Amino acid sequence: MLKIKCEGCGRRAPSFEVVDYGSMDTGYKQLCRRCFNMKAATAAGLDETIRVNLARESLTGIFRGIDDEGRLILEAGGTKRCIEAGDVWLGGSTSESGSEGEADARD
Ligand SMILES: [Zn+2]
Repeated sequence: MLKIKCEGCGRRAPSFEVVDYGSMDTGYKQLCRRCFNMKAATAAGLDETIRVNLARESLTGIFRGIDDEGRLILEAGGTKRCIEAGDVWLGGSTSESGSEGEADARD
């Protein structure tokens, strides 16, 4: 199985767990899901409303932390859900602010 070294913690993670995180301006880093969620969490802030775009759905809820597996804990409608790596939008807005949000658009 292809493994990629996470630029956050240095752990070698399976490629499907690795997410390109960053922006066109600052460049991208390849992070394992744990580091990715940590980064996203730090950026969003605990107990803030965040929006998470997943492959099949979008969730808006309150960010409650990171679990032992490095998953993001989102509370929505009184239910806590553990979110694997996804595209996290901040502030609960749907802003199409012109920034490139695609995680894997490059080749
Ligand atoms: Zn990592």
